[in-house]
Amino acid sequence: ICVAPVAVAIDGADLPRGFGLPAVPGRADALFTHDGQITKSPIRALTLAALAPRASEVLWDIGGGSGSVAVEWALAGGRAVTVEPRADRTATIRANIDAFGLGGWVTVIEGSAPEVLPPGTPDAVFVGGGASQALLEALWARLPSGARLVANAVTLETESLLARWHADHGGRLLRIDIAEAIPLGRMRGWTPARPIVQWSVTC
Ligand code: SAH
Repeated sequence: ICVAPVAVAIDGADLPRGFGLPAVPGRADALFTHDGQITKSPIRALTLAALAPRASEVLWDIGGGSGSVAVEWALAGGRAVTVEPRADRTATIRANIDAFGLGGWVTVIEGSAPEVLPPGTPDAVFVGGGASQALLEALWARLPSGARLVANAVTLETESLLARWHADHGGRLLRIDIAEAIPLGRMRGWTPARPIVQWSVTC
C-alpha cells in the first residue's frame, strides 16, 4: 500500500517521489507525442537493449514514427538521425525532440529509405519501418565492422525477410509475444499484442 509522505529530498530540495525522467529506456508511451505509431514501451526497452547505446555513438533510426527510439538513444548519451517520409510524423518527431530538450542531438530527415539515408557512418541502425531487401542490402554495404543492426517486424512479409537475413548472417532472432491485462467486464483478461519478430546482428 502506498502511503504519504510523497516528498523526497534530492540535492536539498523536496521533490515529489518519482519526479523527473526515469533513467532507463522503455519510458511511458504517454511521455511522447504520437499518433498510435510508436514502438510501445516494453518493446522499446528490448529494442534499446539490443541497440546497446554507448555515449557519443550515432544511431540511424529508419522509420522514425514518433521519434521515441531516437529520443531514448539520445537520452542514453548518443546522437541520432531519424528518417521518416511522412511530414505529419516528422513534425511530431521535432515536437518530441524539443520536449525532451534534445535539439542538436537528434536530427530529422524527411524521406524514404533506402533512397534517403543519412550521411556518414552509424554505430547502430534501427529499422522500425520500411524494411525491405533493398534497405537491408544498402545498410549492410554501409555498416562498419562492430556496428549493430536491429530490425523489428510486425508483418509476415517483414518477418520472412528477417528470417532469411538471420539464416544468412546469423545474429539473434527473437519473437516477442506480450499480453496485457485489461478489463473484461467486471474482471480482467489477457489481451495479446501482435507478435514482434526482432532480428539483431553485429556486423
Ligand atoms: N519506432 C517508431 C515507430 C515506427 S512506425 C516509434 O517508436 O515511434 C514505422 C514508421 O516507418 C512509420 O512512421 C512509417 O511512415 C515509416 N516508414 C515506412 N516506410 C519507410 C521507409 N521506406 N523509410 C523510412 N520510413 C518509413
